[in-house]
Amino acid sequence: MAIMLARHEAIQREDQFVRQVAGLLLARAEGTAEQLRAGAQRMRHVPSAERCADAGMDTMRRINLSSTMLQGVGHLSGNVIRCSTFSGTRSIDLGPPSMTSALGNRIWSDVPGLDGEEKFIAVARGDFVAIIHAAVPPSLTEQLQQLSLGVFSVARQQVVLERTSGLASGSSWASRPAGIYREAGSVTAVVHSSRYDIGAYASFPTASGWRLPGVAMLGLVALSLLVGLALSTFFVKAMRARTSMPGLIRWGLRNGEFKILFQPIIDLAGGATTGAEVLVRWERPDGEVISPETFIPVAEGAGVIRLVTAEVLRLLEPDVRRLVDLKPDFYVSVNFSADDIHWPGIVGQVERFLARSHLPAANLVIEATERSFVDAERAQATLRALRTAGVTIAIDDFGTGYSSLAYLARLSVDCIKIDRLFIQSLGTESATSQVAARIIDMARDLGIGTIAEGVETAEQARLLQALGVSRVQGYFYDEPLGLAALVARLEEERAAEAGAPAVTV
Ligand code: C2E
Ligand code: CA
Ligand code: CA
Repeated sequence: MAIMLARHEAIQREDQFVRQVAGLLLARAEGTAEQLRAGAQRMRHVPSAERCADAGMDTMRRINLSSTMLQGVGHLSGNVIRCSTFSGTRSIDLGPPSMTSALGNRIWSDVPGLDGEEKFIAVARGDFVAIIHAAVPPSLTEQLQQLSLGVFSVARQQVVLERTSGLASGSSWASRPAGIYREAGSVTAVVHSSRYDIGAYASFPTASGWRLPGVAMLGLVALSLLVGLALSTFFVKAMRARTSMPGLIRWGLRNGEFKILFQPIIDLAGGATTGAEVLVRWERPDGEVISPETFIPVAEGAGVIRLVTAEVLRLLEPDVRRLVDLKPDFYVSVNFSADDIHWPGIVGQVERFLARSHLPAANLVIEATERSFVDAERAQATLRALRTAGVTIAIDDFGTGYSSLAYLARLSVDCIKIDRLFIQSLGTESATSQVAARIIDMARDLGIGTIAEGVETAEQARLLQALGVSRVQGYFYDEPLGLAALVARLEEERAAEAGAPAVTV
């Protein structure tokens, strides 16, 4: 009996493992398809004749920067790439495509890379083409080397990319219905996308799984690297529910699954709380909390980020005035994505939020990432309008993205947030250890404020103070807090300031 149970458990574990792997792979392929679709859509706004001129190249660079899955994008005529983010205006003849998917996307497998070494896959939607890395990176563990993986066209029953271990022949899975198969000494999961002409499979030898306790856990850690996705059961659930990730986000928004937290921003000199950054959280009904680092990029790639931003503002609306009543110069700092900044309706949205929440404009900061400034002209116009309305603008994650220090002088911003990457390297020997100091100096010269993010130690705080940073944020001071905890903090500070001890009832 015990042996039967153990055997049953092992089988379940194997099934779960291959299903998760195939699900991750499918999620990745769907994400790529989604970004291809979004990119092609944006390119349509550029007149055909200008696709390889400045306007087109600019748009392509922007698309490329905002796509996590596409390594490069370009413009095609026939089978020839006329211009791209990776080849400039040099033409590259791709030859006839290896396949055309049911949605009409053309696919070229085995495109040689520019250096002649790495192989790429090219995928085109109309005359918009994207290249993606063809190689599935070699696995980190021996166990995973026994995995066979593949992505295929369901309609054409043809493999687009795969890595076989020699144990299972990959191509045959492209013609099978979705399901779990146990045959020829291996267990295979075949999954199909509900939105795209994409399927994925993963095969693992059964004999070894039987002897490998905990393979699912071990494997998944390596796999998160293997398929380049944040480790989250979220992706697997999305696959099981046969819902696309953007679909799940929409559903979660309707279902009230999003919450906000506040991470205090501290005045380094006096130690007072000057403001707080609003950070969104997604709690699924089963209790799983999905990190914004996982879903924000998905939401951005899929064009649903504006819905998330609207939800954050909606959640903030009823309570934010209370914070300012406690401390008149307190500000809330809200994250806006590139799509938000580029959306023509943004100024109206912010003004409506201010009116409804009774928050004075001076108490609102908008954090825009560097990616929002790739289209500097357009961003500039929006930022100016927001500043005219009295809102403060901060550049988020400064130093990590596209921007150079040079363009900062031209932009209308009030403050930069120095990414925690540079804070962590403070006082170390690393190549980036001097970056924070340079950013701080330059900001001072330009009369722009600075906030150091991700301060985790007293030593970092000390160094930052010596460098002249005025405000800090990080786990050394506070983790993101719920509203009640933040209110308590402000009340305490107010009481202390008034010279009276904090009253607790
Ligand atoms: P971010 O804007 O750079 O936000 C700061 C992130 O660093 C937060 O992670 C925060 O919890 C974390 N953090 C704070 N102090 C420390 C520290 O001392 N050490 C370390 N290692 N981390 C620290 P979180 O909340 O997971 O957010 C991750 C990212 O997701 C944010 O990075 C932001 O880019 C995005 N995000 C979060 N909320 C929103 C939102 O409402 N809208 C948009 N568009 N993006 C959001
Ligand atoms: Ca931020
Ligand atoms: Ca940041």
